[in-house]
Amino acid sequence: MTPFDALWAELEPIGREVGTGGYRRFVFDTAELDCREWFVATAEARGLDVETDRNTNLWAWWVPDGVDATIPALVIGSHLDSVPDGGAYDGPLGVVSAFAALDEIRAAGVHPDRPVALVAFADEEGARFGIACAGSRLMTGQLAPDTARALVGRDGATMAEAMQRSGFDAGGLGADPDRVARIGEFVELHIEQGRHLVEVGAAVGVAESIWPHGRYRFTFRGVADHAGTTRMQDRHDPMVAYAHAALAADAAARAADSRATFGRIEVEPNGTNAVPSLVRAWLDARAADQSTLDALVARISRGASEGAARSSTEVELSTESTTPLLTFDVPLRDRVAHAAEAVHASGRIPVLPTAAGHDAGILTSVGVPSAMLFVRNPTGISHSPREFAEPGDCHAGVATLAAVVTDLAVTDPR
Ligand SMILES: [Zn+2]
Repeated sequence: MTPFDALWAELEPIGREVGTGGYRRFVFDTAELDCREWFVATAEARGLDVETDRNTNLWAWWVPDGVDATIPALVIGSHLDSVPDGGAYDGPLGVVSAFAALDEIRAAGVHPDRPVALVAFADEEGARFGIACAGSRLMTGQLAPDTARALVGRDGATMAEAMQRSGFDAGGLGADPDRVARIGEFVELHIEQGRHLVEVGAAVGVAESIWPHGRYRFTFRGVADHAGTTRMQDRHDPMVAYAHAALAADAAARAADSRATFGRIEVEPNGTNAVPSLVRAWLDARAADQSTLDALVARISRGASEGAARSSTEVELSTESTTPLLTFDVPLRDRVAHAAEAVHASGRIPVLPTAAGHDAGILTSVGVPSAMLFVRNPTGISHSPREFAEPGDCHAGVATLAAVVTDLAVTDPR
């Protein structure tokens, strides 16, 4: 059993739902707190200094004897939280691979010349409070602490209340420029959320860019009424308007080779025999460039307005979060690719764009050189219990990450 396999087996049962096989690791929930405990225990077992920063991101520091702790660190890691009924790999693969890579380079007697840190960023998926990458956004000053504290989660508790209940200090949230300055580079290994690596026949790839993306809330307002006695022509049914918006989203995204998803709705009063009074629907939209994304959202918004007009209802659109196109640091990307190629007999490492957001993108946006390694996902499916990576590809990912750390953190690798 490799160090990776042993660590994977420890983490795998935490937060897995028996019924669906999916994971529910929501920030500050029991399963997520158990994942944090696992991180702390794993780091302490390796003699690393563990800390939870003011935004609840977890850090484990390796500062070898004789190394100046003030030199900006090479940081590796990812996140441990999940979407509702998410897969095992999205996030945890990067954290487990970071520990396993550390074990490999230590076993090889490699001695870094600079600090190396492992990180598990908090609340990357935003599954509980609706804002993705909350931990890294807070740390880099891209999410205001007052806004974060007031976010209301699925269970009705605010982030501040949820933090208090699990023993965190919500008053401490906020920009952490000293910590950001300690990050020399960040390298995040992640399961690929697509089939590019399958198509090119490679176990590992390097990220080029992250598509611009956004989350938008549509509120459709009508009038609640009796499902039996209200004639169709007398209704003000916001569900009909929502249906127009959902069809417009599907058509517009297909036409523009983009992505548009209504994955969450709330209905009031939510009764089978009641015409709804209100439908709230959340749109996730992504495209290869900003103007395509803007046009996509505008088209969906028009579809929603047309639907509202036809159903004698009203619609209101508000933007919850947006992230512009991010191109990863080119010199770092090339260096990571070069180091990766050295451990892959096939020679070339593919460079690919991604339509998913990541903490590495948030750090890139504030000028921290960041890179991502992707590990092949045979089905391309992600955010689902069917998400998967072959053990051999996971091991290739660890070997690649170990080579990258050795290259970046050691002036004179043995
Ligand atoms: Zn992820």
